[in-house]
Amino acid sequence: MTETTFTPRVFSGIKPSGGLTLGNYLGAIKRFVGMQGQMETVYCVVDLHAITVWQDPKELANMTREVAAGYLAAGLDPSQSILFNQSQVAAHAELGWIFNCVARVGWMNRMTQFKDKAGSNAEKVSLGLYAYPSLMAADILLYHATHVPVGEDQKQHVELTRDIAAKFNHDFGVDFFPMTEPVIEGPAMRIMNLRDGTKKMSKSGESDMERINMTDDADKIAKKFKKAKTDPEPLPETLEGLDGRPEAKNLVEIYAALNDQSAEAVIGEYAGAGWGRFKPALADLAVEKLSPIADEMARLMADPAEIDRILSEGADKAREIANPILRDTYGIVGLLRGQNQF
Ligand code: ATP
Ligand code: MG
Repeated sequence: MTETTFTPRVFSGIKPSGGLTLGNYLGAIKRFVGMQGQMETVYCVVDLHAITVWQDPKELANMTREVAAGYLAAGLDPSQSILFNQSQVAAHAELGWIFNCVARVGWMNRMTQFKDKAGSNAEKVSLGLYAYPSLMAADILLYHATHVPVGEDQKQHVELTRDIAAKFNHDFGVDFFPMTEPVIEGPAMRIMNLRDGTKKMSKSGESDMERINMTDDADKIAKKFKKAKTDPEPLPETLEGLDGRPEAKNLVEIYAALNDQSAEAVIGEYAGAGWGRFKPALADLAVEKLSPIADEMARLMADPAEIDRILSEGADKAREIANPILRDTYGIVGLLRGQNQF
């Protein structure tokens, strides 16, 4: 069988499960913006993923707009990227079901994020939370996406996406879905919780003090970095000196990512500095980079109808790519549907 060449295309998404964090910005949005213009880019607010845990319906609609506002404020341009929310394109859920029938229970049982999120409560969480990575594979493969920029925490899910694509292609004897590459590079692929350097910063984390929100004002940002957990040592002379110091390493990496520098360069500049010097410098840098985005998000959020219009136009464009791929998938699987029903 000759190998199909797939047009380079980027897909990624963020759940509207809470306000955007610095982790979402550095690990995802900033990099989404960087890929815009280099190849076709499709960016989604994945609301169907958000409801895998309880969401207040009124809040969900607002959070969906807020994630969209974060995308736009950080520089995503609807004339260059397709921006939409997942639930407007029904094909995501439809392909998700087909992939539920391709993925194996044993594969899902290995997903570490499910174990983290379900904790000791695994019997009581939704079936959707368990199946989530298979819907994520559908999100990606519905666009035949070749590249998926994500934070380090999503690596395992992109690998599962490749397993699903490979099994589908093998089972049906086709070369239809691409082997998508996760794009995980740069100094900030796993921003850690400010109160516990062994846990990831997450928008759904318990305490507001453990994360920087993209909408936090200058005072809040300064306060959160000031209270961030560290150790008593000053910054080391070399990068290796950060080994075994997760909180210190995290703050250096945040600084590096915000300032488009390497962690080595930051250590070069601040070797020997105490936290009394480094933390205020980090807070100033974060305010400088984040406050213009927060201001623009507030401006956009004042006109929700305009955000809704952008998302709906984006959904029209997304369907133009997704529906023919779903149509061909139905044909491959042997599901009957009239050609004009896609
Ligand atoms: P939740 O707590 O609801 O899972 P989240 O903050 O983990 O929210 P997601 O919507 O799950 O956000 O992930 C959106 C994108 O942001 C993904 O690409 C993910 O890898 C990235 N991301 C999330 N948290 C971090 C982090 N701490 N560091 C780097 N990237 C992150
Ligand atoms: Mg997450």
